[in-house]
Amino acid sequence: MQLRVYNTLTRQKEDFVPIKPNQVGVYTCGPTVYKYATIGNMRAYIFMDELRRVLEYDGFKVKQVMNITDVGHLVSDADDGEDKMEKSAHEMGKTPLEIADFYTKQFMRDLDALNIKRPTVCPKATDNIAEMIDIVQALLDKGFAYETEDGIYFSVEKFPSYGKLSGVNLDEQRHGARVEVNDFKRHPIDFALWKKAQPNHLQQWDSPWGKGFPGWHIECTAMSKKYLGEVFDIHTGGVDHIPIHHENEIAQAECWLGHKAVNYWMHNEFMLIDGGKMSKSLGNAYTLDDVTARGFRPVELRYFCLNVQYRQKINFTWDGLASAKTAYDKLCLQLWAHKNSPAGTDQQTLDDYRNKFEAAINDDLNVPLALGVLWSLVKLPKSKDVYALALQMDKVFALDLDKVSAPKQADVPDEVRALADTRLAARKAKNWAESDRLRNLIADMGYAVRDTATGYELTKK
Ligand code: AMP
Ligand code: ZN
Repeated sequence: MQLRVYNTLTRQKEDFVPIKPNQVGVYTCGPTVYKYATIGNMRAYIFMDELRRVLEYDGFKVKQVMNITDVGHLVSDADDGEDKMEKSAHEMGKTPLEIADFYTKQFMRDLDALNIKRPTVCPKATDNIAEMIDIVQALLDKGFAYETEDGIYFSVEKFPSYGKLSGVNLDEQRHGARVEVNDFKRHPIDFALWKKAQPNHLQQWDSPWGKGFPGWHIECTAMSKKYLGEVFDIHTGGVDHIPIHHENEIAQAECWLGHKAVNYWMHNEFMLIDGGKMSKSLGNAYTLDDVTARGFRPVELRYFCLNVQYRQKINFTWDGLASAKTAYDKLCLQLWAHKNSPAGTDQQTLDDYRNKFEAAINDDLNVPLALGVLWSLVKLPKSKDVYALALQMDKVFALDLDKVSAPKQADVPDEVRALADTRLAARKAKNWAESDRLRNLIADMGYAVRDTATGYELTKK
């Protein structure tokens, strides 16, 4: 089935056509490893993972590159403020390398816990400084960049289509300037390719312009080119990257290479918390550890996220997560019953569900619709065939559906279990009226009883 994706650059859904048949190169802006990732960040990486899984489901071989930003991302996304890594290192009394190592490990642990496949390559910015210096030099040589007292800047006026991704032209940006003005720049939107370092700066490298460190944007251009080539298929990130980071990536890459570098730009919308922005000062920048500390499993957060298509905002609340957990548990219980039933669903029915599922995921990753197909599938009469199809779908969902287990009988109160035992005896005596009466009594107490080959199974309704 033809995959269609929404391309931020053209503002429309397009047929996805890879550069090389059956292969796809995807670059994702990775985390800045100076603190724990928030669950908002993890939404971006669940989206990255869903994209990869859909591509793989469709038979593509995916090379997925996600960088680790361990230098150069300043406190504002533009060129001002301290480097986030330096700031964290100072605050915690550690070196930037120690900070980066620690938070990279934590981040990878979170990826694993959320069933996010590890990218094929996760290059660190600090391992690619020479490649960045080469691009900055080339941009200077070609006249797209200029040197000032404090760094090398890209001159946006040399790139007439600057703003094409966000749809904002230079004049509007000049006035609206989200980007802070800096005395050294010729134009407020010009951005740093390289920053000259003060002697006390912790991370600095030799360069043709003295000691310094790279700008954040050039990192992604250097690493995507190195691992995916001059033109690659898909670039992803959160919507906050559209107006500055990705606009800058496009400008510097196209001026350096003389042609476009990315065919499809895909962006995930934000996660809100209680309807508002997530922020440290509000104390709501929750991490995966906060989620597990409240008794939720990471897979339940994944299920919560999959219920909203990646281009829509998702509103996180603890109640919402609790409802997602309830729904997820119910889904697993139903699947457990299918797993332990004989085969018996006709092929046509299974094909219809598979087709609906594939249509949903290939329509710009409409995963919530695909989950809806799974939900109607599990409502079919109990059959192993249903379970087998659900497992195929789970290659995309990654909701551990292969691990569904017997309902926890221990949670059932003794009096309910006693009624179920009496009912089992009634059934053995073929006293169907008494068996039905007891089933209703059990239902009134909030439990469902299901007969199995070895006896019965009780589940909370
Ligand atoms: P950062 O480490 O700040 O560069 O962010 C890592 C990724 O998370 C980027 O793709 C951001 O766009 C994305 N991101 C940050 N906050 C949120 C949020 N609240 N919801 C969804 N994505 C986010
Ligand atoms: Zn990036």
